[in-house]
Amino acid sequence: MKEEQGILVIAEQNKGEIHKVSYELLNKGKELAKTMKSTLNCLLLGPEGICAEELNYRGAQTVYYMKGSMFAISEEYTYKSNIVAFIREKKPKIVLIGATNFGRSLAPRIAAALQTGLTADCTDLQLDEEGRLIQIRPAFSDHLFAHIKTITNPQMATVRYKEFKEAERNIQNTKKVIEIKAYYNLNSKIMVDEIVAMNDFDITEAEVIVAGGRGIRKREDLAMLEELAETLGGKVGVSRALVDAGMADSASQVGYSGNRVKPKVYFACGISGAPQHVAGMKESQIIIAVNSDPSAPIFQIADYGYVGDLYEVIPQFILQWKKEGVAK
Ligand code: FAD
Repeated sequence: MKEEQGILVIAEQNKGEIHKVSYELLNKGKELAKTMKSTLNCLLLGPEGICAEELNYRGAQTVYYMKGSMFAISEEYTYKSNIVAFIREKKPKIVLIGATNFGRSLAPRIAAALQTGLTADCTDLQLDEEGRLIQIRPAFSDHLFAHIKTITNPQMATVRYKEFKEAERNIQNTKKVIEIKAYYNLNSKIMVDEIVAMNDFDITEAEVIVAGGRGIRKREDLAMLEELAETLGGKVGVSRALVDAGMADSASQVGYSGNRVKPKVYFACGISGAPQHVAGMKESQIIIAVNSDPSAPIFQIADYGYVGDLYEVIPQFILQWKKEGVAK
């Protein structure tokens, strides 16, 4: 039987654009492959027309481009079946997937089908003396870093977006793109009726985030934050309190169990600053907090703090910024 070998990065694409997390995984993958003296390859699933060699320029030795119009939709079941079949055939030792919304949903399905372990949301990856992967991720609300090893193969991990630097682009790298056919077409048991816009909703890319917490009393009041976000060309995020209350989708949740964001400006409106929220936004360049409680912990990390009722302060912000002409 063929020995397990090499590192495989599952590259993510959205509407034919390769997600930057793939370049970050290749950067870390290159470092690991060098130490392991092994190969670093990529699997890209997507429709016609993706510039797959870009993954070579970023460090992948071989790019397996599985083409199919069904991959135009980020639909877990078809992706999972094909990735599992590919892994069973190629037997990589390590499989890395971006911890994006789609990656987080896809990776456990692959791991379960392969009956292997998976460490989700890693923030670092290392190797032990025997060349096995040490998967590092925060645990107990970021109070310690767990070092996890998987005893099964392949060793699988998802890695948070913006955790590693993107691999540098080198057009001198050898281009090696192998086009392969999908093993399976649409899963006959799955019918896609309608695609809702959730895939377009990626707050991790936003330069300005206006986030609301339990200080927002009802769903309709989020419109106020949306207006401020729109004025500044940003997106709305939320604390878990609003997701749990059914007022917002988990795709917009910021924090430990949500998205990790690093915008230029982060507004925390009616958010107390619990460690699990702060874990996802503390690296924002400028933090502006609005809270009626002067002792709220969010003020300890805020660059600018407004003590007051957000229902009075936010409309003032909107008025002021519109007047100043900061609007995009
Ligand atoms: P609260 O803590 O209730 O704070 C509301 C704030 O609004 C208060 O400070 C209050 O003074 C202020 N306020 C109220 N009314 C007004 C007003 N009119 N004007 C101005 N200010 C006002 N949380 C996350 O956010 N993201 C995560 O990813 C996450 N993951 C978690 C994972 C685990 C394992 C656990 C245990 C918890 C997690 N949490 C997460 C929950 C977290 O612990 C907090 O419960 C949550 O962040 C609190 O949200 P909040 O700040 O909106 O609400």
